[in-house]
Amino acid sequence: LAKRHNSVAEIYDPRHQDQNVERLSLLSELRKAVERDELVLYFQPKVSTQPDRVHHVEALVRWIHPTRGFVPPFEFIPFAEQTGYIKAITLWVMNAAVRQCGQWLANGLEVNVSLNISARDLLNPDLPAVFADMLRQHACPARLITLEITESAVLDDPLRALANLQALRDTGCALSIDDYGTGYSSLSYLRQMPVSEMKIDRSFVMHLLDNPNDEIIVRSTIELAHNMGLKVTAEGVESEEVLERLRALGCDLAQGYLISKPIPADALERWFRDSRW
Ligand code: C2E
Ligand code: CA
Ligand code: CA
Ligand code: CA
Repeated sequence: LAKRHNSVAEIYDPRHQDQNVERLSLLSELRKAVERDELVLYFQPKVSTQPDRVHHVEALVRWIHPTRGFVPPFEFIPFAEQTGYIKAITLWVMNAAVRQCGQWLANGLEVNVSLNISARDLLNPDLPAVFADMLRQHACPARLITLEITESAVLDDPLRALANLQALRDTGCALSIDDYGTGYSSLSYLRQMPVSEMKIDRSFVMHLLDNPNDEIIVRSTIELAHNMGLKVTAEGVESEEVLERLRALGCDLAQGYLISKPIPADALERWFRDSRW
């Protein structure tokens, strides 16, 4: 009886109910975010560790809710992934990023734009064709776009995902493995995926100088990537010292608060003009 009472208590735990109500209201709000035009793209520049004049940025979505205000991605992206609503968000992000990239190019500013797609998006069979249409519509060359994919726990349908990745790749864009080292079976993915870049998760980069194991991981990841012909970006670079060490280790690109936080498009244009990088 006690046990049964427990489980009933669990089900009716008012805290859970509050959470569920909160989740439901967030979900219904999220459904409207796209049509109400509440999403905004921010851009975070990356810099090359070698001198060059190429611009690289990562597009990161922001949700500006009319009453809740700024909702950080970690409060709605995982939720959108669970509920399938990520599909609409990804299409919005893709279109906005490709449009911006095409606009910059038309204004004489060539910027390599990375954007994030979720493992779940790889089950959407229309994605490659829709993406190709966006590129054409916004006169954006595919070579300027990189799709960052996080290796998530388990793909429901790895074969379909792989075929879709191949089709995305065939449009001429680049593919990147995001948050390398934090996901599930990194190496088996890497073996099969047509990627050209690896991004080392910031959890390994932040303590690079004071944790010898992190240094070993970063060093061998860079070596592995280069041996496979891939470029490496380190994220979470917050100090000159870390940037120096990454440069010494041969890392190709660096991204982090040292260089810039994610900022809106107009601020980024000023950054390109005025920053010391
Ligand atoms: P991510 O793809 O690993 O993006 C990098 C995150 O690290 C960003 O957080 C960025 O603001 C943050 N960051 C950058 N430099 C530093 C640094 O030096 N120090 C620290 N502590 N953090 C830094 P953000 O924008 O909050 O995004 C969080 C995550 O949300 C992203 O992680 C990505 O997984 C997801 N996300 C963001 N935008 C999108 C999107 O458009 N689509 C999808 N599917 N996911 C997105
Ligand atoms: Ca990313
Ligand atoms: Ca990342
Ligand atoms: Ca990360």
